[in-house]
Amino acid sequence: MECTQKGCGGRALIDQPYAGAHLCAAHFRASVVERARRELHHQAPRLKGGTLALALSGGKDSAVMTTLVHRILGGRQGLQLVALTVDEGIEGYRAETIAPARKLCRTLGIEHVVRSFEQVVGTTTDATSAALPEEIPCSFCGVWRRRALNQMAREVGAVRLSMGFNLDDLAQTVLMNLARGEPHRLRQMAPHVEPQAGLVPRIAPLAMVPEREVYLYARLEGLPFDHAVCPHASRAGRNVFREVLWRLEEAVPGTRHALLRTREKLLPLLLSDEGGAGSPHRCRTCGEPSSGEVCRPCAYREALSGLTASDFISAPGSGRT
Ligand code: SF4
Ligand SMILES: [Zn+2]
Ligand SMILES: [Zn+2]
Repeated sequence: MECTQKGCGGRALIDQPYAGAHLCAAHFRASVVERARRELHHQAPRLKGGTLALALSGGKDSAVMTTLVHRILGGRQGLQLVALTVDEGIEGYRAETIAPARKLCRTLGIEHVVRSFEQVVGTTTDATSAALPEEIPCSFCGVWRRRALNQMAREVGAVRLSMGFNLDDLAQTVLMNLARGEPHRLRQMAPHVEPQAGLVPRIAPLAMVPEREVYLYARLEGLPFDHAVCPHASRAGRNVFREVLWRLEEAVPGTRHALLRTREKLLPLLLSDEGGAGSPHRCRTCGEPSSGEVCRPCAYREALSGLTASDFISAPGSGRT
């Protein structure tokens, strides 16, 4: 199969059914850089200076995001990049991904801050999973990580927090929110389209790059990243949406892009619905923004001190960050 880029004729390395294209290695790499560049300009058009925080886990997505942001914006005067890594305390997993994250930051000359759940929450994902076996670990792990990243980004004075979410991740999130009857969450998900109280605005430069292309790019560039899969991942509520979306994309190429367009089309409606997102209160425990009296990170922490998580988490009006 030949590269479909005009005038190339090189051997195609990857097909893009959603675009009706086949690309050789050189054109594929250039197209990934170009998509990230477009998204950065689209999502953070007025980013002139200050600190841009990069959420770097050490997996392929955040390694590619960090490399591309460094490549595209690294030379911009007055703009400083700081990578943030959260160690959730997951035996046999996170320590392995932190090593390549450190290596990447050293290679690129990016400051790297690592913080553990033990420092932020006072416990680990493994310990909480053992203490609350009926809870899906990703529930508390996800809310604590989001909270930790936000606090770390705020502490380094970041004007934006860049996430490694790829096209598959974001399309899954849209599908999940629609399937769960929670369209207002389309407003809160990254990339942020409006300021959200207490949150460093999140951007997602890989929003237009499918997961398998992120992987291929990471391999072609020889980036350091870890292949390890979290031992708790098989219990993630998102898994079923991932599978459904794979099947949909195979049957109807372009479904992932269409889901992101659906979000874009719904946003004006959601933004005009003042009550939709819920005006944030302040959590009575930590003072962070929350749509209920207690935010979800605190609810899980309180659950650990003897109460059942569902008392807080499923309660009407309970906090969602
Ligand atoms: S897969 Fe779930 S438990 Fe594992 S790191 Fe991710 S959110 Fe945490
Ligand atoms: Zn080519
Ligand atoms: Zn709280």
